[in-house]
Amino acid sequence: MQCLYCNYPDVRKNGKRRGKQNYICVNCDRYYTKTNLKKF
Ligand SMILES: [Zn+2]
Repeated sequence: MQCLYCNYPDVRKNGKRRGKQNYICVNCDRYYTKTNLKKF
């Protein structure tokens, strides 16, 4: 799994929000959920 903003290949799980898995990029510190991946 990689960041959808900077394509950095290392993201961390950041807990869950509203039942969705939240991720944080270790490179650019942006948050996103898995469902956002299709959107962008
Ligand atoms: Zn990133």
